[in-house]
Amino acid sequence: MRGRHLHSRRLRELEERLDDAERDIDRLENTLRGIVQETNDISVGGLCKCGESLLIVRQRTVYCPHCKYRRAI
Ligand SMILES: [Zn+2]
Repeated sequence: MRGRHLHSRRLRELEERLDDAERDIDRLENTLRGIVQETNDISVGGLCKCGESLLIVRQRTVYCPHCKYRRAI
């Protein structure tokens, strides 16, 4: 079949990039968990409505570090 070899190579490249991205996410999650554990007054909430960051909960305030959304709880 024409183009099949090219397709499988492209697929392999995508798989490698996906593996790298997953490893990056795991590292960031571990780092974030460590930071949250070391700071008593900060926790991480759900996804912000902007979709670009999780919300940070601190001193009865929820805020997004990306879009600056902020609300008291
Ligand atoms: Zn946001």
